[in-house]
Amino acid sequence: MTVTTVRVPAKVNLQLGVGPVRDDGYHDLVNVFHAVSLFDEVTATPAATLTITVEGPAGVPVGPDNLAVRAARLLASHAGVEPRVALHIRKDIPVAGGMAGGSADAAAALVACDALWGTGMSRETLLELGARIGSDVPFALLGGTAVGLGRGERLTPVEAVGEFHWVFGYADGGLSTPAVYAECDRLRADAPAAWPVVSDDLMAALKTGDPLALGRALTNDLQPAALSLRPSLAAALAVGVESGAVGSLVSGSGPTCAFLASSASHAAALGRTLSGTGRFSAVRQARGPVPGAVLI
Ligand code: ATP
Repeated sequence: MTVTTVRVPAKVNLQLGVGPVRDDGYHDLVNVFHAVSLFDEVTATPAATLTITVEGPAGVPVGPDNLAVRAARLLASHAGVEPRVALHIRKDIPVAGGMAGGSADAAAALVACDALWGTGMSRETLLELGARIGSDVPFALLGGTAVGLGRGERLTPVEAVGEFHWVFGYADGGLSTPAVYAECDRLRADAPAAWPVVSDDLMAALKTGDPLALGRALTNDLQPAALSLRPSLAAALAVGVESGAVGSLVSGSGPTCAFLASSASHAAALGRTLSGTGRFSAVRQARGPVPGAVLI
């Protein structure tokens, strides 16, 4: 194969339950991931050495820290091949926006390089290599809707009925995920968190495909911390609800705001209203669930 391109989706957390901080500094999480139709594309072209170029928003490292580069190197060393590839990322997923764009690019690079180099890794091996790069990477390979336990990497797919329609409000400037977790710990210092469990209401809503029930069941334990670090998010979420969203929450560690609509036409109307408020740097419509990283 001469050139491979992989399309990979962003995620929104339908539930992000954050447990008490563990001895190793991480938190046990109950995550319900949902892949939505905002995509990055990673192209892998044969080259003498590993290089990386990025097209799209600023803030993405173009060196060894890029998660796609780390993924390519990890795959090469695991497979015993030289990492000879020119990676090119076309970014549409917001950077540091709480939608796991960097993890998505890592997942895409694993799939693209595996195809380019003919290394023939099994699905299980790619998931295991992905988990070594970051706890959100396995879900970007899988897509759909899934419960993630541990740090988010132990995945069980969830059967969701039908399609859900979303509007995402992007913010100017990202939020650092470690900073949001640190703020979450600070806010909870006097009242340690209970152990999170998967929400029955959420699972029931996914099984019926009812957007109103899903909207009521959305929860994010990181939201108070994201709002504490970025107070303007409270008003941004409120404007979505006033504009008729059937559910709203901060996506992951933020600052992207996710609004659920009751249908595709409702999402289009909601998107127009939210664009007109001037509260977001961009407003995007998307549907979910969609598949994980796929060769195109
Ligand atoms: P998550 O929700 O997974 O915690 P996020 O969506 O908030 O993360 P990302 O866009 O994944 O944030 O990026 C977080 C940081 O990772 C960026 O600020 C950037 O420095 C670094 N990074 C490394 N590789 C990439 C990449 N390919 N795309 C975007 N950011 C990357």
